[in-house]
Amino acid sequence: MNERRILAAGVLLVAFTGPISRPIHCQEPAARVVIAASTLLDGRGGVLRDTRIVIAGSRIVAIDPKAEPVTYDLRALTVLPGWIDSHVHMTWHFGPDGKNAGAEMRTPFAALAAASNAWATLMAGFTTVQSVGSAEDLLLHESISRGLPGPRILTAVAPLLGRGDSTGTPEEMRAYVRTQKRAGADVIKLFATFSAVRPGLLFTQAQLDAICDEARKQGLRTLVHAYGEAVRAATLAGCNQIEHGALATDDDLRLMASSGTYLDPQAGLVWENYVTNSDLFIGTPGYPTGAFSQIEAAIARSHAFFRQASAIPGLKIVFGSDALAGSHGRNAEEFIHRVQDGATPMAAMVSANSLAAEALGMADRIGSIAAGFEADIIGLDGNPLSDMTAVRRVRFVMKGGIVHLNVRN
Ligand SMILES: [Zn+2]
Repeated sequence: MNERRILAAGVLLVAFTGPISRPIHCQEPAARVVIAASTLLDGRGGVLRDTRIVIAGSRIVAIDPKAEPVTYDLRALTVLPGWIDSHVHMTWHFGPDGKNAGAEMRTPFAALAAASNAWATLMAGFTTVQSVGSAEDLLLHESISRGLPGPRILTAVAPLLGRGDSTGTPEEMRAYVRTQKRAGADVIKLFATFSAVRPGLLFTQAQLDAICDEARKQGLRTLVHAYGEAVRAATLAGCNQIEHGALATDDDLRLMASSGTYLDPQAGLVWENYVTNSDLFIGTPGYPTGAFSQIEAAIARSHAFFRQASAIPGLKIVFGSDALAGSHGRNAEEFIHRVQDGATPMAAMVSANSLAAEALGMADRIGSIAAGFEADIIGLDGNPLSDMTAVRRVRFVMKGGIVHLNVRN
């Protein structure tokens, strides 16, 4: 959320650009697993009753009501694909003094805090996240690939903050994109405005056009932190996804809908977290005294914008919590805010399943329970379609065929 400086892909990256060594798993996926479900949300808006999921290794191989023997009987739960959070800051933590320490991970304490964030996020039912604001994400990504429990992490590595002028030729912008790709980025994150109270455009249209065009040519997606006029500018530039988006007009949102641009507004968790933990943020870098003096207005603006966006036909609203220090593991609270702001429970679920997977370019791999997909499966005590607070009661988590949580009441 806060203003970020331009980060160079630096020393930390260099240390981790070697080939990934052999993963150390304490647990390997079983050869064959059968999960029984009485209520199964398929991630695409469908509900299946009294069926079974057959898993071989890390993948779902069949949906077969007659499959036997049953390995996990989840008939007391609602079963659905592991959630996808399109916008987190995975390494952002509170430091040894309890206060906001940002996303940098230069001490053992910070590294362990980031590992805790990853574990808490996975236990909360999020099996894939897109972390968009820190080169340190690569370290965590690497550790998880070696066996640390955590969600699958896609990362932007270092975001680019526009300078508010025409400094930086289109060719230099294109070079930045290529540098990010070499550093291991899955996505390019741009700050095209500071905030809703400082919504001036920080890139020229030519710069935005160059970045989003080059990203597309490099096979990367683009996420743009944007308020007001930047929403339209980024949409016209062909960028893939807008983060936040407040102050956009209905016309801007209709343009996004017709362009197929994804919107990831935050209805509530990020603000609720700032209110709850304001004393831990105030006075730390990026949060000067008085930083939250306008927070009531910001909360009202976010809720109103979510309602405004929800009313635009065809607009693809994906799930992103903007989880940072204090909200890792509570990502699902954002679902509750969104439903209170008018999202249907099913739309809220799909926004973090197949729609989020589509936005990540992974629609054929995650976000659905169907043959051929990763075995990312969670179970909730309760049915979110009738009681959204069920998202707080995650009782079963499988990621890539490995069970990380399986508790019974
Ligand atoms: Zn953010």
